[in-house]
Amino acid sequence: MKKPASIFDIHVHLLGNAQLDAEFMAFAQNWDMPFATSCLGSQGSMLAYPTFEQCVAANDAVLEQMAQYPDFVYGFCYVSQQHESSAVEEVRRCLGKGMRGVKLWVAVKVDDPRTFPIAEAALEYNAPVLIHSYLRREEILPEESKPDHIVALARRYPDLPIIMAHMALRWQEGADAVAECPNIYVDTSGCDPELGSVEYVIDRLGVDRVLYGSDGPGRDVLCQIARVMAADISESDREKVLHLNAKRLLGLGGAK
Ligand SMILES: [Zn+2]
Repeated sequence: MKKPASIFDIHVHLLGNAQLDAEFMAFAQNWDMPFATSCLGSQGSMLAYPTFEQCVAANDAVLEQMAQYPDFVYGFCYVSQQHESSAVEEVRRCLGKGMRGVKLWVAVKVDDPRTFPIAEAALEYNAPVLIHSYLRREEILPEESKPDHIVALARRYPDLPIIMAHMALRWQEGADAVAECPNIYVDTSGCDPELGSVEYVIDRLGVDRVLYGSDGPGRDVLCQIARVMAADISESDREKVLHLNAKRLLGLGGAK
């Protein structure tokens, strides 16, 4: 596959494992692929229901990587709504230190009122909230957010940029559910690179709301890039998906 001239990955995870994290960094640098990252755990394991202390440690690891690779690594703060006001303080701490967004995973559905003060803190910083959504074939996790939960949050905070991760896996259903909410973006990460998926979400949401992401290193990143490279879209649309939309959303290069 030809290397794209410019690329920015909106959805990466630091694994908290020195060797794996170093391998991914070498890969990203080799591809000249700056990225936005959150850490969801430690020692290579992901924590769906982290303690508050685990969140702080994970975010500290991201802050460290940001300091080591300025203008290349952009942090997203991982919190669990279970920690209520402490989570809000953690969001303020991390955004205050230069992180660019907030990551919510599967601890609590995002239409739960405990999400609201976190969303309000993100809004203060004009920072996007990246929300995991994954409509797998089997039953989803009890507190995993479906696109409808994300829509409820987006309607409550119409000025808050929200990224629905993975195009919700079932991309037709996901894009259809969020199409009417202009503050919901999708990232292309994670699901299988099915033919027509990128074209479909661009058609439903408009190209400005579609961002390339990989969910690496837990996914085959080149396979994730190939999904966008192989899509039957114009070169200017491909540029937007591959890096321009993400840079605009994160306010990079004076874009905000
Ligand atoms: Zn992810």
